[in-house]
Amino acid sequence: MISLKTTYIALGSNKGNKLQNLQAAVDTIFVRVGNVNKISKVYQTPAIGFEGDDFYNACIKVETELKPKRLLKALQDIESKLGRESKTTDGYESREIDLDILFYDNEIIEEKTLVIPHPELQKRRFVLQPLFDIAKDFEHPFLNKNIEVLLKECEDASIIETINIWLKNQSKEYT
Ligand code: AMP
Repeated sequence: MISLKTTYIALGSNKGNKLQNLQAAVDTIFVRVGNVNKISKVYQTPAIGFEGDDFYNACIKVETELKPKRLLKALQDIESKLGRESKTTDGYESREIDLDILFYDNEIIEEKTLVIPHPELQKRRFVLQPLFDIAKDFEHPFLNKNIEVLLKECEDASIIETINIWLKNQSKEYT
């Protein structure tokens, strides 16, 4: 029997046509990963930890049949397809598209290549703010606080601005 899991994915782009990159990622996730149930607003956020153009960030809620490792592989394929060059430094750098798995149902996974919930999510306003749009009541499986509370308690003082353009959801045309 097919079992569908709910996953939350963070999207970021700070290179090329950022909005187009985010839209292409959402469209490809719909085809390769599963139905996109919710899409946050798009936020403009400063690059943290390196000199680079501002990021556009968003979060989506997706129903998928893929197991966590398969999901990671699918997202990495999408990152490559959308032109992300392989890393040239150990730190942060500009990228066409960065896709991170924030949650996978209530599962807790700690492996070398995959950590879920994403270990940095509670420290990053650019993740929590869009996540708040689509999952404010979702409870972190071991911090035992919902996204609304994590956002209130977040010490990241970065300035996050909404941009007035929405990503489109192809899934709706098929449901
Ligand atoms: P980044 O450059 O930030 O996209 O990091 C990519 C690396 O993080 C990949 O090698 C993944 O194996 C690893 N990783 C660990 N946990 C996660 C996660 N929850 N979502 C995405 N990548 C992850």
